[in-house]
Amino acid sequence: MKILVINAGSSSLKYQLIDMDNESVMAKGLCERIGIDGSNLQHTNMASGKKVRIDSPMHSHADAIKLVVDALVDPGYGVIKNMSEIGAVGHRVVHGAEYFADSCLIDGKVKEALEMCTPLAPLHNPPNIIGIEACEKIMPGIKQAGVFDTAFHQTMPQKAFMYGLPYKCYEEKKIRKYGFHGTSHKYVSLEAAKMLGKKPEELKIITCHLGNGSSVTAVDGGKSVDTSMGFTPLDGTIMGTRTGSMDPAVVTFLMDEGLDSKRINVLMNKESGVYGISGISSDFRDLTQAADNGNERAALALDMFSYGVKKFIGAYAAAMGGVDAIVFTAGVGENDSRTRSAIVKGLEFMGIKIDEEKNKGRGCMDISAEDATVKTLVIPTNEELMIARETKKLVEG
Ligand code: ADP
Repeated sequence: MKILVINAGSSSLKYQLIDMDNESVMAKGLCERIGIDGSNLQHTNMASGKKVRIDSPMHSHADAIKLVVDALVDPGYGVIKNMSEIGAVGHRVVHGAEYFADSCLIDGKVKEALEMCTPLAPLHNPPNIIGIEACEKIMPGIKQAGVFDTAFHQTMPQKAFMYGLPYKCYEEKKIRKYGFHGTSHKYVSLEAAKMLGKKPEELKIITCHLGNGSSVTAVDGGKSVDTSMGFTPLDGTIMGTRTGSMDPAVVTFLMDEGLDSKRINVLMNKESGVYGISGISSDFRDLTQAADNGNERAALALDMFSYGVKKFIGAYAAAMGGVDAIVFTAGVGENDSRTRSAIVKGLEFMGIKIDEEKNKGRGCMDISAEDATVKTLVIPTNEELMIARETKKLVEG
């Protein structure tokens, strides 16, 4: 079965067509500037390596999906003969609130529930819904599934997801920890179990998704029991440009200083994190280079980041009463050996110790030292494949 995976943003749409017989990517691409002048589609046929750029007006997401389907069936650079070869479409959806504890096939009721999640993710969910409706229009009759960033974390116990606010804030306004990056945490925790030759049910794993946005999750017996992101993706570790956790009174203090909520939102989401601390960049490559050249604030930003992730590892080992494996994934987790090393340094007392030579490698790898009692693994994340696997499972019933 061939599954089309769609990740729709407000003005962009990423896609991959995956052949689930061997889980290979047949084609992938990106539509940019939907609804804006200069819209274009960049498409790659993965078998031939042929890349094309199609400059064509896309007034809506439906126009974009139409162009994607045209590219997929194109005799020159396409990968299928016609649209009916697409067995199903899997959509990434950011927020499923408490309505969705699992992926599901889209129907009228699901779309109603999706609309009800929108107040919790006003920037992200609407384009996801538009993407679903665009596919329904252009590909009628082809089954669609929603795979939620929050769903994996719906297994968290209430003591982990509640905030210390009056209970009615949860009951009336649904204010609680939801957690994000769930598709990635689920994928790498399942892959880790495969690498270790064990069942997910037998393992306590701490998954560290460290990219531009970062989150750490405690996965006990295959289920998320706690995660560092919260009501929004702002919580947890400091990130590329986000603050991560801090005393919530900072917000009211800034308001008293005259900043309004919009300004504070930009400050905390776009101007903070390692970028805000260093004043240079949110990219760890730039920060490492600057720190090596003696830039103290870049060094501080990197230190704050690894110290923050280390504390979550300690906390989640305590929460689970032990840990069998630490997994690093996403842009920083997969590529930045120095940050990995800084995070686990000092955790030898817990049995976490890496082999610095192995840590220099690339790809999927076990970087644990011989005498480590806790495994440290690097596993490239693959959210698209996870979405395709979930979609296939749903379609096959
Ligand atoms: P996103 O959260 O946007 O999906 P990614 O997971 O792709 O982000 O991570 C992007 C980040 O990964 C970059 O901003 C950069 O900090 C980091 N990164 C990517 N490659 C490297 C590398 N070779 N060394 C260090 N950091 C890297």
